[in-house]
Amino acid sequence: MFAQAAEITPACSILPADTEDVVLAINIIREAGATFAVKSGGHSTYSTGSNVENGIIINLSQLKNISISQDQKSVTVGSGCRFGDVYRKLEDLKLGCVGGRVLSVGVGGLLLGGGISFFSSERGLACDNIISYELVLITGKVLKVTRESYPNLFWAMRGAGSCFGIVTRFELRTFEMGKIWGGTRTYAHEHESAVLDGFDKFVQTGAATDPLAQAYIVGTDAAKDGNCIYSVIMSHGSPEEPPVFDDFKQIIPLETTTQTRTLQDLCDELDTHMKPGIRYYIFALSIKNDRDTLKEIINLYTEGALLLKDQHDFAPAFVCQPLLPSMLPKDDIGNAMGIKPEDGPLILFTPVWRWTEKEHDDSIHKAANIFMEKAEKAARARGTFHRYKVLNYSTGHQDVYGGYGEENRKRLLEIRNKYDPDDIMSKLRPGIIQLLPNNNAGKHGRNM
Ligand SMILES: Cc1cc2nc3c(=O)[nH]c(=O)nc-3n(C[C@H](O)[C@H](O)[C@H](O)COP(=O)(O)OP(=O)(O)OC[C@H]3O[C@@H](n4cnc5c(N)ncnc54)[C@H](O)[C@@H]3O)c2cc1C
Repeated sequence: MFAQAAEITPACSILPADTEDVVLAINIIREAGATFAVKSGGHSTYSTGSNVENGIIINLSQLKNISISQDQKSVTVGSGCRFGDVYRKLEDLKLGCVGGRVLSVGVGGLLLGGGISFFSSERGLACDNIISYELVLITGKVLKVTRESYPNLFWAMRGAGSCFGIVTRFELRTFEMGKIWGGTRTYAHEHESAVLDGFDKFVQTGAATDPLAQAYIVGTDAAKDGNCIYSVIMSHGSPEEPPVFDDFKQIIPLETTTQTRTLQDLCDELDTHMKPGIRYYIFALSIKNDRDTLKEIINLYTEGALLLKDQHDFAPAFVCQPLLPSMLPKDDIGNAMGIKPEDGPLILFTPVWRWTEKEHDDSIHKAANIFMEKAEKAARARGTFHRYKVLNYSTGHQDVYGGYGEENRKRLLEIRNKYDPDDIMSKLRPGIIQLLPNNNAGKHGRNM
């Protein structure tokens, strides 16, 4: 949990041991009209995502059951699991599932907001690999949501899941998996051009030639002198280093960790474990893949970061992830996010403004917001802006569901009206990003 969320004081926390406890809790909360939050792994990217001032936290961390089906084609996981728990259990059987890229990230939030995995090019997003949900509605009713039982709700859960109730368990598709190849190659700023060229080529054409390959970029250190250090995180679903990354091989790295290893080992290396005391301001921006737009956005980000270079505690980063057409749902149901193959590869640009001193909140929010406005304007001017905002990397005030397209938002609202006609969920759980824009999310701690 990051520092601004830790400054919120809930009235109490409930630790349900099973689904019946969740039903009991929700019935009491609804009848009392109490405000509440739901917490799985606690990695929410804004302060009120899984915390609530003076309200009740339903902390799902005890729901840790993991059971593998007899035919080993699926695994049912409690919402309180971290992906590390799941991978440990599956690895013994040489199985994998489409989930997070660090061990500590929570199953609940990641699966309900989309979920980009090392296997997404081949198998789609994590949310599109869910077979069923056990969902507790605000009425206290428990539904087993599958594509057959509640087709509309099943569609809505894929990308907007947290708006419909509390999920107590997920049934996930599994696949056979041995060792994989992957790790990080870190490059000095002098190689920026070559790194961005290599990434652009991978996103534009390379990824399509090898669906087992994945790559994303993390830029750090810009606040020191405007020169970013680039880490390229690359992986392949087989134990071999694939030729698709040959361009990166030509660039001399500062350091490299790429090797043949287990999924757990790779996810452990990448885990930042959300160290306490760090303040974050994270938000989501999507552009169509275009090398020039990306470079302009990185320049704007660097300009913004440099304004704050005298603040000793400021350590910004950005993450640049491709959302490829091959990651879109592979079945006829689709998902709620409204991205079409013709949108082409998208680049999900996530600035992660990090600092420790509360007194710097205002100056950092100001610089971050100015950057965001300029970046969006630059992308719009080039015709490369895309409305999609990744829920899992958004901040509280972003209109995520508007970014799914107005037609999809309308359908989501109709589905919500069916299961929660009085919209009790958003009244009692005001801290989360709602289907209609909501100014309360993220308000506490001012990371909005
Ligand atoms: C270190 C780190 C690594 C990450 N790695 C990845 C990655 O590899 N791929 C990726 O796509 N994203 C990644 N993310 C983003 C991540 O998916 C989101 O932050 C996600 O929301 C975290 O889920 P959580 O359960 O840990 O967090 P929480 O704060 O517990 O939950 C996040 C949100 O989901 C809601 N929620 C959680 N569980 C339930 C439930 N059972 N029922 C209803 N609502 C629920 C919460 O109320 C909250 O609003 C990462 C984030 C961090 C900080």
